[in-house]
Amino acid sequence: MNNIITRFAPSPTGYLHIGNIRIALYSWLYAKKYNGKFILRIEDTNFVKNNQKYIDYIFYILEWLGLYWDDSPFYQSKRIFLYKDIIDNMLKNNLAYKCFCSLDRLNYIKNICIKKGLKPKYDRYCRNKEFNFNKKSSYVVRFKNPIFGFVKFNDLIYKKMIFSNESLDDIIIQRSNGLPTYNFCVVVDDYYMSVTHVIRGEDHISNTPKQINLIKSLNYNIPNYIHLPIILDFNRKKLSKRNFSSNIQNYINEGFIPESILNYLFNLGCFSNNEIVYLHEMKNLFNIHNIKRSPCILNIKKLYWLNKYYINNLSYKKIFNYLNSFLLYKNFSIFKNIENISEILSFILPRSNSLNELFDFLTIFKKKIKYDKKILYKLINKNVYDILIFFIKKINIIVFDIFSIKNLFFYLIIKFNYINKKDIYFYIRFFLTGKNITPNISNIIILLKKKNVLFRLNFVIKKFFKNF
Ligand code: GLU
Repeated sequence: MNNIITRFAPSPTGYLHIGNIRIALYSWLYAKKYNGKFILRIEDTNFVKNNQKYIDYIFYILEWLGLYWDDSPFYQSKRIFLYKDIIDNMLKNNLAYKCFCSLDRLNYIKNICIKKGLKPKYDRYCRNKEFNFNKKSSYVVRFKNPIFGFVKFNDLIYKKMIFSNESLDDIIIQRSNGLPTYNFCVVVDDYYMSVTHVIRGEDHISNTPKQINLIKSLNYNIPNYIHLPIILDFNRKKLSKRNFSSNIQNYINEGFIPESILNYLFNLGCFSNNEIVYLHEMKNLFNIHNIKRSPCILNIKKLYWLNKYYINNLSYKKIFNYLNSFLLYKNFSIFKNIENISEILSFILPRSNSLNELFDFLTIFKKKIKYDKKILYKLINKNVYDILIFFIKKINIIVFDIFSIKNLFFYLIIKFNYINKKDIYFYIRFFLTGKNITPNISNIIILLKKKNVLFRLNFVIKKFFKNF
């Protein structure tokens, strides 16, 4: 296939959600598979809801994922003159008309439709009228949708689609504030940007016949349509911008890395034989015909599984960089030198499902430990004191290797047989790391090194057990 052009066209009215990311990924893949172009178009004609931070966020996320776009990004807000020009021409050529109906009248018509059990639709009152209003009267511009016949198109996933024109409205293409509307701008832009394949969510299927009618009346080429099935959250509910599982930002905060998110979305709702796929391999494997028509259900366990896989299989350097950007993002101080923590990383990476967990484990090795006061005060008693003192004494004299540390724990268990074995581990773990749960404590002791183990425990004794 030649000259494939796809586009990602988000509206900067909120943070991107996971469905947007899948659309961006598939659009990118489709273009790249055929050596085509992937265009980024910012649909920012809603000046009330637009926000620069959401625009910046779109760039940030696409770059973070490695989904680079071709050419400079397009902004609809910078193309208002073009849209206006075309609308004026449509008015001249009788393809559109000014509608002066008041909001009250429109609401009245709407209510009549609802009472009759019909889909609300404008009654075309202004469609064939010659008005002589003074210039100040407020109006919208409506498209003269064909009254009879059908709109047909062949969606590459949903196959044959057919809509009767009778069910379609004379849609507004220019609001009363003079700004063009979504359906109109998309049609003009897809044409001027030579988009060959429109890939977007199935929530836009109902817009497609409206857009096709506009395209026909403007004598443009009709692009191919690929509507992607809806994504449902873990509870099989529709994703909304407000819900946790939809917002991509929550995935970043959780410490998911781009490789796992891309891999997850690549396979979401597709027939695929490749459980593990890197972005550079995806374009060859990507096949529109493998996308299932049924809704896709998010599976967070699978996403964690992939995240763990990549955290363990990417180079230390890459993970180290991801970790530092993650920390920067959270306003934490970064790790300066990978060599200093590479031994620790080799132990901790196989145990981490996310950058969050990785970071949490790494805090064990930071200089200052914070103890949860509620737990701490329950542990200040003679038994714990005896255990800690005994432990310190032994650490001072044993050979400091994993074998001896494990034996030391067995020794403690026998010596303090009146104390629950689990509690013994818990006391040592808590005072050494400040945490209730850690990977194997004997390994951690080795990684902490003798000097730090002694320093931490002696500090604890001095600070919290001075009365014993
Ligand atoms: N701006 C639209 C959205 O964010 C994109 C519509 C389209 O792809 O045609 O849903």
